[in-house]
Amino acid sequence: MKKILVTGGTGYIGSWAVKMLLEKNYNVVMTVRDPNKKEKFQFLQDFADRSSGSLEIAKADLLDEGSFDAPMKGCEGVLHIASPFTLRFKDPVKELIDPAVKGTENVLNAASKSQTVKKVILTSSVAAVHGDNIDMKEKGIECFNESHFNTTSSKDHQPYSYSKVAAEKTAWKIAEKQKDWKLVVINPSFVMGPALSKDSNSESIQLMKDLMKGKFFFGAPELFFGFVDVRDVADAHVKALENEGSEGRHILAERVMSFMDLSAIIKDKFGKKYKLPMGKAPKWLLHLIGGMFGVTSKFVKRNVGIPLCLDASKSKEALHITYTPIEKSVVEMIERIESAN
Ligand code: NDP
Repeated sequence: MKKILVTGGTGYIGSWAVKMLLEKNYNVVMTVRDPNKKEKFQFLQDFADRSSGSLEIAKADLLDEGSFDAPMKGCEGVLHIASPFTLRFKDPVKELIDPAVKGTENVLNAASKSQTVKKVILTSSVAAVHGDNIDMKEKGIECFNESHFNTTSSKDHQPYSYSKVAAEKTAWKIAEKQKDWKLVVINPSFVMGPALSKDSNSESIQLMKDLMKGKFFFGAPELFFGFVDVRDVADAHVKALENEGSEGRHILAERVMSFMDLSAIIKDKFGKKYKLPMGKAPKWLLHLIGGMFGVTSKFVKRNVGIPLCLDASKSKEALHITYTPIEKSVVEMIERIESAN
């Protein structure tokens, strides 16, 4: 496989994936919404100039039907990474669900029309595997694995998670109706690690900046997430593309830990440099003032203080992912944020 189309290449995860493909000699066609905004991808063109691969920029928007058809011409593989990852939105349907679902339809339909695409790698999320942490107990599940789908998110409750499960299900439906290409899905947990791009809106970077700025100084909610390094996520995409036997879904997580565990890692390396959370915010307080931070009582009730288990063994066995210790990801992410300022 030589010519690969990548969506979302300007983003936090996508830019690492593009860099890895370029280093592996691929001809990358990267779709962007606005090719005139060169500052968003110049750093990747600089990588391309120094690498054995090549980079072509093409215009396409997730919401423009047919806009991926021309860029897809002659491509053998697709990494469909683009989708909004933000928890700061006004209209969840317009800002999250439509770009996720319609974007998946547009990209995958273009793959079907191309007659050259053999494999599509879709960036889904663990948010498509489970919704609230309490789902585990309610469904009698000991640990989430690739057989589980999120059934508790909706456009009104955890709409980002809903956008991911709706997009992934759409992808499986389209894939089942054709035989030209194979779908392989990557389900990362919360991504950490240094960014290549300077101006990603990814919630990964926003959350780390919030932590560093002291947003949770008076107390952080006791929330448990899976965490994974951004370079391991990009590596999983490339391995899924290259490995002939890759199939199905892949949960990516180095470990599950709490917000407070994350702060402890930062404190260990950076001492008192940042106004990190003084302790856990009590659940009653979150119920009371959560609304000010956009957190609903339903979210607090179904997630805060509730443990989570994610089984990432398939990613190690099938894709041979050797996980980067999250301590390294966190430290290098902060050093990168510091150096970009
Ligand atoms: P970023 O915000 O950094 O990247 C999102 C990318 O999607 C950008 O390249 C953006 O392009 C593109 N995009 C957004 N809307 C559109 C649109 N309408 N048309 C075309 N392109 C669009 O986020 P991440 O890198 O963190 O996320 C990438 C993917 O990974 C998403 O699918 C996300 O759901 C998934 N994911 C992320 C996790 C994380 O912790 N970061 C965890 C699990 C999954 P532009 O530069 O033009 O804005």
